[in-house]
Amino acid sequence: EESEPPVVELDNVEIVYDRHFLAVQGVSMSADEGDIVALLGPNGAGKSTILKMISGIGRSERGEVTRGRVFLRGEDVTNDGANEMVQRGITHILEGRRVFEDLTVEENLRCGLYRQGRRFRFNEDDYQIAFEYFPQLEDIMDLKAGYASGGQQQMLVIARALIHRPNLLLLDEPSLGLAPKLVRDIFETLVEINRQEDITMLIADQNAKRTLEIADYGYVMENGQIELHDPADELVEREEIKEFYLGT
Ligand code: ADP
Ligand code: MG
Repeated sequence: EESEPPVVELDNVEIVYDRHFLAVQGVSMSADEGDIVALLGPNGAGKSTILKMISGIGRSERGEVTRGRVFLRGEDVTNDGANEMVQRGITHILEGRRVFEDLTVEENLRCGLYRQGRRFRFNEDDYQIAFEYFPQLEDIMDLKAGYASGGQQQMLVIARALIHRPNLLLLDEPSLGLAPKLVRDIFETLVEINRQEDITMLIADQNAKRTLEIADYGYVMENGQIELHDPADELVEREEIKEFYLGT
């Protein structure tokens, strides 16, 4: 039996901003089909940069892969742009819960389809995947998204991403600024989505504890490099992780 190539793979990747600022160096990592992979590390470590180069949006911030390669299911996509990556089934949920504040929750959900460019007529069925995992949204469909709570906004951006029907979901800091109980609920929902929808996930988050609880595999970054990587259940047992990231 031939083994499948990873859904996403970085081979010795270097990323430079503005032609001179070295943000990421010598990074090799991969996510296998169906896995939840955690990308951990302090602010400025390079987590968002990696997600942005995978989804292709880093290029619009003058980021460039200057060494190494990025592969999607074995295919070299190092130089592909954001539009091509969307077509390949990658959806990137940016840091900071970017909702359209003046649009309603419903209108925000519809944007999921517009962006995909699949069609412009909306079918009620398209909401079903959103409501299946976030039934709370059904009660606030007419609310302006700017008035929704932080937790509701995080649910909304994940729900909107699901309407894209991605096969690889990149999540940047989904837990940031949310109460612990909410983080637990949302992360549990991510696990359900991962299992039921066959969506591979790469989650960059500073909350190592919660993220490792749901991850299969974890990478810890510092100063643009990967310092440690292991299956998540082994990573949580390592002394340096306990000391610096888990507060134990
Ligand atoms: P993290 O997500 O782990 O906090 P980032 O990937 O955002 O880290 O940042 C990694 C490094 O790249 C930091 O030094 C940051 O200042 C720099 N950086 C991030 N985005 C840009 C950008 N658009 N232009 C220039 N430098 C950037
Ligand atoms: Mg970041």
